[in-house]
Amino acid sequence: MSEKMLPKAADIVIIGAGVMGASIAFHLAKRGAKRIVILDKDHVAHGGSGRSSALIRMHYSYPAEVKLALISLRMFENWKEIVGTQGDFRKTGFVRIVAPHEIELLKRNVAMQKELGVNVELIDRQELQGLEPDWKVDEIELAAYEPDSGYGDGAGVANDFLERAREMGVHYSSRNQAIAFRLKGEHVSGVTTEHGDIDAPMVVAATGPWSKPLFQYVGYELPIEAEFHQVAILRNPPNMKGNGCACIDSGTETYFRPDAHDKFLVGDFWGERPVNPDNFPQRATDASLEEMIERTCRRIPKLENAEVMRGVTGVYDMTPDSRPLLGEIPGINGLYVCAGFSGMGFKISPAIGLVMSELLLDGYGKTLDIRAFRPSRFAENQPIKAEYEYADDAY
Ligand SMILES: Cc1cc2nc3c(=O)[nH]c(=O)nc-3n(C[C@H](O)[C@H](O)[C@H](O)COP(=O)(O)OP(=O)(O)OC[C@H]3O[C@@H](n4cnc5c(N)ncnc54)[C@H](O)[C@@H]3O)c2cc1C
Repeated sequence: MSEKMLPKAADIVIIGAGVMGASIAFHLAKRGAKRIVILDKDHVAHGGSGRSSALIRMHYSYPAEVKLALISLRMFENWKEIVGTQGDFRKTGFVRIVAPHEIELLKRNVAMQKELGVNVELIDRQELQGLEPDWKVDEIELAAYEPDSGYGDGAGVANDFLERAREMGVHYSSRNQAIAFRLKGEHVSGVTTEHGDIDAPMVVAATGPWSKPLFQYVGYELPIEAEFHQVAILRNPPNMKGNGCACIDSGTETYFRPDAHDKFLVGDFWGERPVNPDNFPQRATDASLEEMIERTCRRIPKLENAEVMRGVTGVYDMTPDSRPLLGEIPGINGLYVCAGFSGMGFKISPAIGLVMSELLLDGYGKTLDIRAFRPSRFAENQPIKAEYEYADDAY
């Protein structure tokens, strides 16, 4: 059946072909599930996935997120064996610098991460300086260092997952918008799309910042807000050591990483709300990039005169506790959400596809209990709060 011909019925419809939808499709197909359809209103990785800074790190304060990142890291490391293509994972190492008054939290989180199997060490100022001679680290007492982390490529991951899923029989329908869920009593019965209706007893929306209006049609308010972000790509100055560690730096409220061998990517913690995911500025403003780069220069003075090659803009799908909504919608059997990744979904997308496929096929997350991420947690007044959460954990 050609891409354009939509089947009349499916066992599972996935809406959205970003890293999440494509990963779910891949894992379902790998389990042998048949009659899977994935559709996208544009094309694969058109959303946040194609604009992602794609840092890969294990440093989280909430243990389930550490586990999701670790399961995903194993997949990134063995991409060829698991997905069949070379993959884009670059193991540069990763450093987490926290605010000086949060050093105790850093120690607690590193201890928790080690217990979960993460290759992470606390390093002092001298060790950090040895690792990154271009960084100015005078005020740093301790940082967390993960030698196995790095960065990847959002469009690459979504394309690889989708391509492999299609080879295993998944039907992909691009440029086909899901307009509404169809219901029969308290059960989802399919999806109305731009190119016709499709019957299905299970539907999962992996629709990023577009999720809220889709669920409003069936009377469910998803607590997701779109937030605008900007990123700068710089050319490495001639005397700078390339291929250094990726970093999240509370000292400058920025994150950064190398971009290939000759470029450098810089982003920051804070975004702007509200923003329309269908109509947001495609061009980063000079003033915003300048301000963000200034702050990064406090950590890496050699960037002072680095050429700005381009800006990237994008939208995060934020939830009130900055963690995703994963699970069935209360009162509508068979309708699932997998969205609200709040600017940090790329690195966990391989594991999310796995646990969502288990939820759909087995009724629960076998690899990892994901009930804490249920979409109803805010209505139940049970947002996720980590034991040793940082003030800026939202990034
Ligand atoms: C600038 C930026 C930097 C980031 N940096 C990092 C980082 O360093 N590390 C990290 O881990 N994460 C990062 N993220 C976050 C990460 O990229 C996202 O969490 C992840 O890509 C979300 O993937 P997704 O599949 O859920 O959503 P998306 O990639 O947004 O995909 C949703 C898809 O659904 C489709 N869709 C929506 N509505 C419909 C509809 N009604 N019918 C059909 N199709 C529909 C869209 O076209 C889109 O393709 C960053 C994000 C941005 C924007």
